[in-house]
Amino acid sequence: MNANTALRPNPRIWDDNVWPEELAQDKELLEQSFQHALNMLQPEPYPENWPVLQKLSTLETMAKGAGAHDKFIRPPIAVHFKDAVNPAGVAQKASTLTGNDTTGINDWSKNTTLMNYIPDAWNHGAEIFTCCNVIRVDKASKKSGTSGPYTVYFEWQEPGREAFLSDHGNAITPMFITADIVVLGAGALGSTEILLRSSKTGFKTSNQLGKHFSGNGDVSVQGVHDNGLQGVCGNFTPPIWLHSAWSKPGPSPVLCVTPCENGTTPLMRFISVPIIVRGVLLQWRDSCAWRLDGR
Ligand SMILES: Cc1cc2nc3c(=O)[nH]c(=O)nc-3n(C[C@H](O)[C@H](O)[C@H](O)COP(=O)(O)OP(=O)(O)OC[C@H]3O[C@@H](n4cnc5c(N)ncnc54)[C@H](O)[C@@H]3O)c2cc1C
Repeated sequence: MNANTALRPNPRIWDDNVWPEELAQDKELLEQSFQHALNMLQPEPYPENWPVLQKLSTLETMAKGAGAHDKFIRPPIAVHFKDAVNPAGVAQKASTLTGNDTTGINDWSKNTTLMNYIPDAWNHGAEIFTCCNVIRVDKASKKSGTSGPYTVYFEWQEPGREAFLSDHGNAITPMFITADIVVLGAGALGSTEILLRSSKTGFKTSNQLGKHFSGNGDVSVQGVHDNGLQGVCGNFTPPIWLHSAWSKPGPSPVLCVTPCENGTTPLMRFISVPIIVRGVLLQWRDSCAWRLDGR
């Protein structure tokens, strides 16, 4: 998960009729699945006994001022706050509070698929092939003499493949594998893209493919005040972080506003901006200041 939040959805979410019946109705399977994820990710809130962060403190003060303190929580996040070996057997380290979590963080604290599910799959005997860009899936033709009912075509993205130009001379012939069961896990955009390409060559897909798309967050807001960007933007891993924790962004996010029971308040998360997009934020701040000045 990109920004670490490991909150369960509000139960009313499952009442929406957008969900396939098999998913929304089987509450037991749903519960078991949440439990599996919790066991693997081991999320926990930003610990009370860790250094107070400027961002955390400011937002809590604002919440008190707005009379909404009870709606503010420290959400469970998939971050390690102590050095420990995770359930997949990988040694992880305590967070260095650099705030770069949404684009990736190299301090070994974030519980990403790289740290847990991929090593776990490897421990269970999975074979892993990288640099393979899946193009499309097809029903394997009986004539081809292949065993599985599906064929997955992919480009192998290593140098030297140009030696295998297709008959037409301008495209590299894709490689393929066959399988009895194929699970596409290329994300909301990637899986849709593969299926849309597959449907063009006759693979049967749902007529809902590629429709009803939306982001899971509806609005993104940045606030800048007199203290500048301290505690908001990601930073390089500090050598002695404990001495200056106040100005560190901390993991992302440390605070959330939870929805009201009737669902009228949206879920709000306060995240840190990773260092790689810091420049964009600074430009945005300067252009806003320019507009506020009326120039
Ligand atoms: C900025 C941001 C913050 C987020 N924060 C949170 C959060 O705090 N909590 C939360 O629960 N969720 C969060 N999410 C959502 C969460 O990251 C996604 O729901 C989740 O990663 C989806 O997992 P996935 O395995 O389906 O797809 P992905 O994680 O997108 O994985 C798909 C993989 O397939 C690969 N791929 C794509 N196309 C092909 C192809 N043709 N051939 C081969 N490989 C391909 C991609 O390279 C990628 O590695 C966030 C998302 C973003 C963008």
